[in-house]
Amino acid sequence: MHMTQTTERPGAHNPHTMRAMVLHAAGQPLRLEQRPLPSPAAGELRLRVLACAVCRTDLHVVDGDLPRHTLPIVPGHEIVGEVEALGAHVQGHRIGDRVGVPWLGHTCGHCAFCLGGRENLCDAPRFTGYDRDGGFASHVVAEAAFCLPLGDAAQPPERIAPLMCAGLIGWRSLKAAGEGARRLGLYGFGAAAHLIAQVAAAQGREIHAFTRPGDDAGQAFARSLGAVWAGGSDETPPHPLDAAIIFAPAGALVPLALQAVRKGGRVVCGGIHMSDIPAFPYRLLWEERELVSVANLTRADGREFLERVRAHPPEVHVTTYALEQANEAMADLRAGRVQGAAVLLP
Ligand SMILES: [Zn+2]
Ligand SMILES: [Zn+2]
Repeated sequence: MHMTQTTERPGAHNPHTMRAMVLHAAGQPLRLEQRPLPSPAAGELRLRVLACAVCRTDLHVVDGDLPRHTLPIVPGHEIVGEVEALGAHVQGHRIGDRVGVPWLGHTCGHCAFCLGGRENLCDAPRFTGYDRDGGFASHVVAEAAFCLPLGDAAQPPERIAPLMCAGLIGWRSLKAAGEGARRLGLYGFGAAAHLIAQVAAAQGREIHAFTRPGDDAGQAFARSLGAVWAGGSDETPPHPLDAAIIFAPAGALVPLALQAVRKGGRVVCGGIHMSDIPAFPYRLLWEERELVSVANLTRADGREFLERVRAHPPEVHVTTYALEQANEAMADLRAGRVQGAAVLLP
């Protein structure tokens, strides 16, 4: 038998069980379960979860919109945790450190994408809360090499958790929009857009926020975070946009966004899942408009983005829920009742 060596904090309270909200079948509510506390294997960390934000991708996993992966599974991939135990051969992490655990939980390290600096497209990845248990729990085990050090973050954990996906995927989407995109449209003003609007405004870009038609509160929220214009997704912005990012999972927004960008403009789809894109006239794409998607993240994105928010911390708006209220938090997110990000506290 192969034994893995673990190092526990001396004298630490060491409960033998953990709590987790578990998905057993798509479309069913998560169930609260007590489980034995896992030991980290070689190269892994066990974290005490301090906060875990709820991402739209968690809804897609729970609702069965994505191809079925591991079941049962504990969702959650926007985790802030404190290192509680180290597996063998872990370097660069200490017990008591605060780290973030994002969606990208493992890559193979040797496929063409990994070797080419695009580990977000790895051929054999493992994703947190999809292929391996995530942060809708009191504890989680993660690969140390994919945990992002948070340093002495002064912010409370619930305000850091949404940075781990909403922030990070938003950042990758913003980079995909291009440095020259000064007039930027954001479709869907949820957790990701509320963070990226602030980052982009600080870079001197003009933010145009598109919400569901008639969502006056959402539009006012966008303006309060620096948007120069906010309106319904069916409205035409006052000027053609240089680029647009679609965060909402609605394919019908694609032709609308293409119509809103100028010649040579770019539309970035930032989500993992979207409803079907309706047919649209070729003239919307013509004149070298581009339509691209963003998938996952790289660890380099994580380091870069965390450095950026350390220098210019955005206002992070959160609604917190107890871990046991995960189903309620997801229902609120699904119904558009959350302004900013929903975050679970174990
Ligand atoms: Zn790979
Ligand atoms: Zn996510």
